[in-house]
Amino acid sequence: MTRSKSIKTDFKDYICRPFCIFFAEDEKEDMACLGARTAARLYQGGKISEKNIRNVEKDRGVWEKHRTDLGFVLCRACEFKAQDCDFQSPEPSDDLEPCGGYIVLVHLIENRTLDITDLEKVL
Ligand code: SF4
Repeated sequence: MTRSKSIKTDFKDYICRPFCIFFAEDEKEDMACLGARTAARLYQGGKISEKNIRNVEKDRGVWEKHRTDLGFVLCRACEFKAQDCDFQSPEPSDDLEPCGGYIVLVHLIENRTLDITDLEKVL
């Protein structure tokens, strides 16, 4: 796959399908959350690579570690926070996962591929 593919395809192939428990195959492009859109913008801008994304692992400890800082920068501005995503709710259930975009971004922040400033530049 190349970067000439659409941003919609990138969402599905690299971010949503492999990482997001909320992903549905018939999801419309304009239904992508801010986490996925932000990761896609960084990918399309060359800030993160396919290899970076392929190496992402789900790590609940890392999600929790960055919950406040990513919540402030990313989730606070996400259209899904109010109705669809409970990850930033005061009492999320133990098995609740963030979206695929959050999972990708937080992993890359934790391993220092990205920092919060990189996200702010594309939000
Ligand atoms: S974790 Fe939830 S609120 Fe945060 S970016 Fe993802 S969908 Fe939006």
